[in-house]
Amino acid sequence: MAARDARQLSDHERELFSRNIRVPEIGEEGQLALLRSRVLVVGAGGLGSPALLYLAAAGIGEIGIADGDRVEVSNLQRQVLHRARDVGRLKTESAREALLEVRPDLDVEVFPFRIEQGNAPGVLSGFDFIIDATDSFRSKLILNDACVQTCRPFSHAGIRGFYGQAMTVLPGESPCLRCVFPEAPENGEGGGEGVLACVAGILGSIQAAEAVKYLLGTGDLLTGKILTFDGAAMRFRVVDLQPEKRCEVCRAA
Ligand SMILES: [Zn+2]
Repeated sequence: MAARDARQLSDHERELFSRNIRVPEIGEEGQLALLRSRVLVVGAGGLGSPALLYLAAAGIGEIGIADGDRVEVSNLQRQVLHRARDVGRLKTESAREALLEVRPDLDVEVFPFRIEQGNAPGVLSGFDFIIDATDSFRSKLILNDACVQTCRPFSHAGIRGFYGQAMTVLPGESPCLRCVFPEAPENGEGGGEGVLACVAGILGSIQAAEAVKYLLGTGDLLTGKILTFDGAAMRFRVVDLQPEKRCEVCRAA
């Protein structure tokens, strides 16, 4: 670790990240912290596309991408990581290629399968922060439970139509997703609802911001509260969460 701690930014990195470094809350030290960080994005779709692009561009050191799907024509409307030429390819491959075009030296690890209860702990264990960019409530609850059990901080977001929501969970410190939504709704399989493309862009960008703030240890996170976005009224609201008691997943952790 000593060698890692002694690492300095190269001249190229100073130039590449100069607009980060000029932000007082980041500086060279913050940039080095980002370069030492490992973030996993589960889902390389509507939310994952902006989250992955911004995290890569911002200088996260290692990025994991988990997704078992292949690119479909109907994805291109909002999943801006992928191109028309990528239809039929694994999303993890298409996404990796897109990120390496921005940061050729980026360390990318791909997990080309669906995250389930059984494989989640092993995948999550190598990462400092997780982004839930899945498209079904069932997947979100599986990921929530795994993050709580392995004590991994994560950002949740969901989108539908003109609407979106986001919250951040620090296991052991703040309510988890299941404290607020104990079970998936009946239509919780998801994956086919309509969504305004730029709503995915807005919420995925918020998730990237939460990850970066957590890794820098700066600002206020969306913990103990939920952000809702109404794109039709163009209104953001942040509501405090006060669950009467912590859910069974939190309590067991
Ligand atoms: Zn909970």
